[in-house]
Amino acid sequence: MLELNTIVKEKVMKMKIVKNPSPVLRKKTVKIKDPLAKDVQELISSMLETMYANNGVGLAATQVGSDLRLCVIETDGEQYVLINPQITSKSKNKVISEEGCLSFPGKYFPISRHSEVQVRYINEFGKADKVKGHGLLARALQHEIDHLDGILIIDRVSKNYLKKLQQEQDKKSSK
Ligand SMILES: [Zn+2]
Repeated sequence: MLELNTIVKEKVMKMKIVKNPSPVLRKKTVKIKDPLAKDVQELISSMLETMYANNGVGLAATQVGSDLRLCVIETDGEQYVLINPQITSKSKNKVISEEGCLSFPGKYFPISRHSEVQVRYINEFGKADKVKGHGLLARALQHEIDHLDGILIIDRVSKNYLKKLQQEQDKKSSK
């Protein structure tokens, strides 16, 4: 066990974050069969390292070029490793808030999200787990699970907002 931990630690590394518009971000991920497999555990450690190094609230495997259904989240000092996550219920109520993404550095868009969601997943120890999130956690869960389905924040921006952005850009370029 000790030996394995040492190996895992040595392999932990900060990974490069894939930026929009890479086709990698559009890939749908595949379910992880063995959560305790060495490569999966190494990926988890490296993704956590990468998320913290970039001050992210969450990071999905597609953002580091992997097609595994895995994401990590840290909100309010609580860390989540979500393997094969699935939203099992969501509130009717939605809230709009500015949202950023490490794959869109420096950009923020107003995104409407369910104010509360419940997610079923496998944790880093290979055990079935679930989390009920509201506030930032609910937003992060929806954002990261979107990534695992190849969905990005620009797909969630309201059409009206995009139109407004376009009009502002047209105004600028016509001057
Ligand atoms: Zn993102």
